[in-house]
Amino acid sequence: MGAAEVRRHNLALVLREVAEGEPVSRAAVAALTGLTRGTVSSLVDELLAADLVSELAAARGGTGRPANPLQLNRSGPAGLGVEIGVDHVGACVVDLSGAVRAVRTVPSAHRDRPPSDGLERAAVLAREVIAEAGLPVVGVGVALPGVVGPQGELQRAPNLPRWIDVGVGGMLSDLLDGLPVDTGNEADLAALAELWFGGGPPDVLHVSGEIGVGGAIVLGGDLFRGPGGRAGELGHVVVDPDGPECSCGGRGCLEQAAGQDALVRAAGAADVEDLVRRRAEPAPAAAIDGAGRALGVALAGAVNLLDVPVVVLGGLYARLGAPLRDAVAGELRTRVLTSPPVDVRCSVLGPDATLRGAAGSVVRARLRNP
Ligand SMILES: [Zn+2]
Repeated sequence: MGAAEVRRHNLALVLREVAEGEPVSRAAVAALTGLTRGTVSSLVDELLAADLVSELAAARGGTGRPANPLQLNRSGPAGLGVEIGVDHVGACVVDLSGAVRAVRTVPSAHRDRPPSDGLERAAVLAREVIAEAGLPVVGVGVALPGVVGPQGELQRAPNLPRWIDVGVGGMLSDLLDGLPVDTGNEADLAALAELWFGGGPPDVLHVSGEIGVGGAIVLGGDLFRGPGGRAGELGHVVVDPDGPECSCGGRGCLEQAAGQDALVRAAGAADVEDLVRRRAEPAPAAAIDGAGRALGVALAGAVNLLDVPVVVLGGLYARLGAPLRDAVAGELRTRVLTSPPVDVRCSVLGPDATLRGAAGSVVRARLRNP
């Protein structure tokens, strides 16, 4: 490593100790990193100048010169998250610590409209949350409800038939004054948010109920996307070979048994809110149980293949709570070979998990590479 490279590496090292230990003193950072106090001081000066860390008031008492403890700068570089759903858009700003500083989600029908309409709507919302947060946004993470290709393009989203091979990153960057934009799958980003901000375990299958069924695989704390970025498409795992036709062209996919539309229909509910409100009534309860069992069947296959000990239910599934969770867990108990039984939990982050993952990916990248 050359000197510049060593310095960059050490900057990231110091920043990581501040992020993990805040508030933390320079002396503690030196002890934790094995760097000299002098080196740490000069690196900290650089991080202060870049607005990445800030100093708290010095603790009183003790002897010698009081040292100002360090923390991540809540007024420093911030991340913007954007979510393009099938029938909504969302935008969110998080600060360097990952705390949400502004968030907004509005209905926006994308199924029958050109992508440019949806992205313009998203850009308007993004400018609103940026203004509200009042922080310097340095990048954008976009969550998309489909397969994201190697160049960040939305290759295919079965529920958005007009969004095929859309260069979302470039289009949104043009609408947002050239801010750098990264894209990811919505379930992947929700799973990462759970890991980063929800104290989630490092090995987990994340499944979220939306119009489609989003799935994500996290192994050893890292997302497993597969060589083509398509891993985790749990919604199109077949649970009934003779079942109804699916938007993907297949038949009997999980989405047709446990997707939002199928659930609302089976429950005889008017919409998702109606389903959640009436979830204890007999018809909705039976629909939720049926969806949970279908989910359990699909998840059992995945757990038997991957040996993942924890399943996290997000999106609508988290809102349906214990009855759905218990149906999933019951199915897994009879179909999975492992002991102890698979731990099935509801997401702790709520409906903003995907947006937090999208925005969080921006600040996480900045912290890794200051
Ligand atoms: Zn399908």
